[in-house]
Amino acid sequence: MTAPASPVAATSPHVMTTYGRLPFALSHGQGCKVWDTEGREYLDALGGIAVNTLGHNHPDLVAALQDQVTKLIHTSNYYHVPLQETLAAKLVELSGMENVFFCSSGLEANEAALKLARKFGHDKGIDMPQIVVYDKAFHGRSIATLSATGNPKVQAGFGPLVEGFIRVPLNNIDALKAATQGNPNVVAVFVEAIQGEGGVNPLHMDYLRDLRALCDACDWLLMIDEVQCGMGRTGKWFAHQWAGIVPDVMPLAKGLGSGVPVGAIVAGPRAAKVLGVGNHGSTFGGNPLAMRAGVETIRVMERDGLLANAERVGAHLKAGLARGLAQELTAGTVKEIRGQGLMLGIALSKPCGPLMQQAADQGLLISVTADSVVRLVPSLILTVAEADQIAAILCPLISAFLAAQ
Ligand SMILES: *Cc1c(COP(=O)(O)O)cnc(C)c1O
Repeated sequence: MTAPASPVAATSPHVMTTYGRLPFALSHGQGCKVWDTEGREYLDALGGIAVNTLGHNHPDLVAALQDQVTKLIHTSNYYHVPLQETLAAKLVELSGMENVFFCSSGLEANEAALKLARKFGHDKGIDMPQIVVYDKAFHGRSIATLSATGNPKVQAGFGPLVEGFIRVPLNNIDALKAATQGNPNVVAVFVEAIQGEGGVNPLHMDYLRDLRALCDACDWLLMIDEVQCGMGRTGKWFAHQWAGIVPDVMPLAKGLGSGVPVGAIVAGPRAAKVLGVGNHGSTFGGNPLAMRAGVETIRVMERDGLLANAERVGAHLKAGLARGLAQELTAGTVKEIRGQGLMLGIALSKPCGPLMQQAADQGLLISVTADSVVRLVPSLILTVAEADQIAAILCPLISAFLAAQ
């Protein structure tokens, strides 16, 4: 499809090297296709890391944003922002929760959730509140959210970490009960419905329901980080909805603005009034441009049935991958293909970082997370034909990679 990418291009010495980047730059996109500055075409199965909900250059989103920049980009929260009220009402309707605080990124949403949980504790006389978090969790890279994150690589070099977290393994309610037994300082459980960076690890539905029951029984907040798995990606608005439960606090970001930075926490009745005037804020949070992006993203998702599309095309892609990797699944060199809708992970038996460049050389953008998991989080407009194309490129590539010593 395309020529192999050229060897590592020197990057500017003026941009701090906090990322290991592939040696090319993208110049423009259309739908699920993008082109680099050398004119090479790629099928985008990464979607800006689960961000570009509507793909690239979506006509409705472009028109809405163009209209908005001519009116107002930013006003500050000294004034009412009607578009915040519109987007908040929509998120409340879709989640069955009560109210919303807006910010600009995932870690900011999670910081707000952590502050809310601590104040929830202080309000009932708990001076040293503790929050349950998980092995392999990823909640962001601020000091508090990297402390909540369960990845030593993210934490290394940034101690001392923030205290007040109790870490437990995923999907084991007895371990959670044992770790919190008789502890009066626990105020919340904080968990991703499907861990993203940790390797696409879904919570079991019965575990989610057990969590809801335990949090109710103990008066803890159930805080579900839907930053990556939310906003329609699994085929429901929010991944926890497959379990038929409602959390008390739900951080959102990535897909919410289809590429325009926007984050939010949605709060249910027990959490909705914990933060009051002066308790928290964000200069950029909820600005008119970001809100317009969120409102338009959801409008197009509803109009075009993108939840159903994510579920249908995701299932098709998962089945295609399972067919294309049947031998490797039997041999155990592909350990598992997991995830739901358009949030899929292919867990390999060995580290596979080089697959990102190898896939790009074949005209496909993917990511590798948790060292050995190929992650696919494309735009929710992905078609069946594009899903077939992803499987057709990726399966032989993975087979060859696993066969090579
Ligand atoms: C990406 C991510 C974050 C952090 O979001 P940023 O916008 O990068 O700060 C937090 N939680 C989860 C589950 C994520 O996937």
